[in-house]
Amino acid sequence: MNDKAVKSVPFITLNRFEPGFKDEFLNGVKHLVENTQFVGGPIVAELEGNLKTYTKVKYALGCANGTDALQIALRALGVSRGDKVLVPDMTFWATFEAVVNVGANPVTIDVDQNTAHWDLNTFKKAVDMFKPKAAIMVHLYGHASPDTESIRQFAKDHNVLLLEDGAQCFGVKLNGKGIFEGALIATTSFYPAKVLGASGDAGAIFTNDESLMKNCHTLINHGRTDHYSHGMVGWNSRIGAYESLFLNLSLKHIDARIPSRMMAVETYTEVLRPYAEILKPVRAPKSIEENGYCSVFFMKPELRTRFIQTLKDRGIGFGTIYPGAMSKQSGALPYIKENGLLDFGHGHLISQSVINLPCFQYITKEELDYTLSVTKEFINGL
Ligand SMILES: *Cc1c(COP(=O)(O)O)cnc(C)c1O
Repeated sequence: MNDKAVKSVPFITLNRFEPGFKDEFLNGVKHLVENTQFVGGPIVAELEGNLKTYTKVKYALGCANGTDALQIALRALGVSRGDKVLVPDMTFWATFEAVVNVGANPVTIDVDQNTAHWDLNTFKKAVDMFKPKAAIMVHLYGHASPDTESIRQFAKDHNVLLLEDGAQCFGVKLNGKGIFEGALIATTSFYPAKVLGASGDAGAIFTNDESLMKNCHTLINHGRTDHYSHGMVGWNSRIGAYESLFLNLSLKHIDARIPSRMMAVETYTEVLRPYAEILKPVRAPKSIEENGYCSVFFMKPELRTRFIQTLKDRGIGFGTIYPGAMSKQSGALPYIKENGLLDFGHGHLISQSVINLPCFQYITKEELDYTLSVTKEFINGL
């Protein structure tokens, strides 16, 4: 018997680093401590430079987390009390929260049933119905909407300020270009479990627009115009030095980490192709290069319940990203009542059907084989 045989697989683990990575980080921390560089300083400037180079966006700004990044971007766009902002019904709750936290009114708009992203027709309809000041387009799962470019153009033509929540799409490409390149303004999260994760909470904002970036800069640092002058009421949302160091080191390996995730996604898709009637793979169209943030399948809800039990029994981690639509959250109810929603039931159906198999950087062939054999066994036994 193969003593390397795998008997359990986590949904994700953060503990798969390149040889020498941890030592390099710890040495860097030592240097920062010796120089008492804790917030700001050259390490943050280095990170922002690296982010600009990687994303090919003119301006990049580190901040405290991905939720703050959304709030700061909304404020920089001039979104404030009473403004309507469209958010997808299928996203992480932070997208919704960010709108409320800047005093604006969120309106949930359903997503396409097959892609879990906004499609142009629904977006058009929503703009027509609600005449919003702004909208947050979310690139979920490390995919993007196939209609990203036409939605951007439509928003521009109709004076809807379009913010893109890229917390899950760092490294995604659209028609060969970085996903953030064509955005008016975009944000990301460096929460440790994201594709580019930090050693703690962190986030960033990207834009090619100089005046927007100037506003963001001011907003993340107490609205400061100089050390003791405050031109706006902002936040303290500065990025930490240790997180910046960790991100600089991680970025050096991103071109190996993303392919290792994509190997998992491709292997699942390929091996499970004959079972697609039961376990339907959800992949972005060819125009979009995914980043392998997660593997996504849809399965009939009754079957999913049984499949989940099998995965639990066999020690395999899984996700259901996300188990509820935004408009179905009790915290959303007062806002939905006040502002409305556009709901075809797709977000809810997706939340009941979605299943994510283990996917993380440097997942091994043995871990994939075990997950796949349990999955095939389950389907063959139906
Ligand atoms: C993770 C995530 C966020 C929030 O990021 P934090 O860094 O955890 O604040 C926002 N939007 C989406 C889509 C996310 O996945």
